[in-house]
Amino acid sequence: MSGDHQFTRRERDCILLLGSELRNGFPDRISDIARRMGIKAPTVIQILKRLDVKGITRSEKGMVILTDSGREAHRRILENHRILECIFYRNGITANESCVVAGSIDYVIDGDIIGKLSQSLGMPEKCPHGRPVREA
Ligand SMILES: [Zn+2]
Repeated sequence: MSGDHQFTRRERDCILLLGSELRNGFPDRISDIARRMGIKAPTVIQILKRLDVKGITRSEKGMVILTDSGREAHRRILENHRILECIFYRNGITANESCVVAGSIDYVIDGDIIGKLSQSLGMPEKCPHGRPVREA
């Protein structure tokens, strides 16, 4: 996987959740993450323990923030997600279905493969939802 981090689905969901908070610049509360992911706080704590070890998050006193490599992982997963959405969407699958299918593979697919797919698509700038493939 070209040196990329390996994540579980729940780790991926947690990274995307934490990344979405970056715009406010505030760390997230473990209880809020649990509520938004629909899982129990102890489960979130287990996920965060693994992400802390991988250098993706920093958890302290019930608060969590993405590290620099966490933000990079977030950016990469989103880019993968949106390129994959474009492929499905252009082949007749609805935007929402494309999003669901993309979400099941965006965190495991190799970045080099995504690069090749993106090229074959003509380097799309926006996903079917109109969001930028590469965030500023
Ligand atoms: Zn999208």
